[in-house]
Amino acid sequence: MDRRDFLKTSLQLSALAMIQLSGIGCSVQPGSIGSASDLPALPYANNALEPSISARTLEFHYGKHHQGYAANTLKLIAGTNLERLPLTAIIQKSHGVKELSATYNNAAQLYNHNFYWQSMKSNGGGKPQGRILQAIEQSFRDFSAFVKIFTESATTQFGSGWAWLVKDGNHLKVINTGNADTPLTMGLIPLLTIDVWEHAYYLDYQNRRADYIAAFMDHLVNWEFAGKNMELAG
Ligand code: FE
Repeated sequence: MDRRDFLKTSLQLSALAMIQLSGIGCSVQPGSIGSASDLPALPYANNALEPSISARTLEFHYGKHHQGYAANTLKLIAGTNLERLPLTAIIQKSHGVKELSATYNNAAQLYNHNFYWQSMKSNGGGKPQGRILQAIEQSFRDFSAFVKIFTESATTQFGSGWAWLVKDGNHLKVINTGNADTPLTMGLIPLLTIDVWEHAYYLDYQNRRADYIAAFMDHLVNWEFAGKNMELAG
């Protein structure tokens, strides 16, 4: 990707992130992550994803882990020149800056989790339709090949992290990121993600990460969200 393409993608990412954050159940104002009370709400009830993900998991995952990242981000940017910036700009500006590593980790986790909640819905999963399916078939040969690659990627991520379906130019790709890392800093446009930190599945599946990933693919994926992200990216 040359510099011109990179800048174009960065601008697309900023605009896209604002739209994504102002989507279903979100009340974040563009230009700021606002206050703790403005942070995106879970776009469904705690028990909406049962039996694939229990209400107890979401109580901890959203209620404790996610809120912890949100509270830490707000605390870390308070009184700094990052305070009134959009979340995506906070992530970009703190990425790779040693003294801002805590800010980066918390802000990136906040963004990744906002994205993850919207990547799922009640009675989701299965095969998508329309342009997102065509793009998957062009990039991965067919839908079952994509499922195999995404599943392997999520299963084999060593330790904590994420698997993503992303748009890179005119192609779709599956990538992994470790810990808090996010495609936003790689010039890639995220379309869909699964959290494979143990806190996402351990209460329900213990060490059986593969069973959690299978439930995500079969029953939870919000393909409308992924398709909307692709449309917005152009
Ligand atoms: Fe998580």
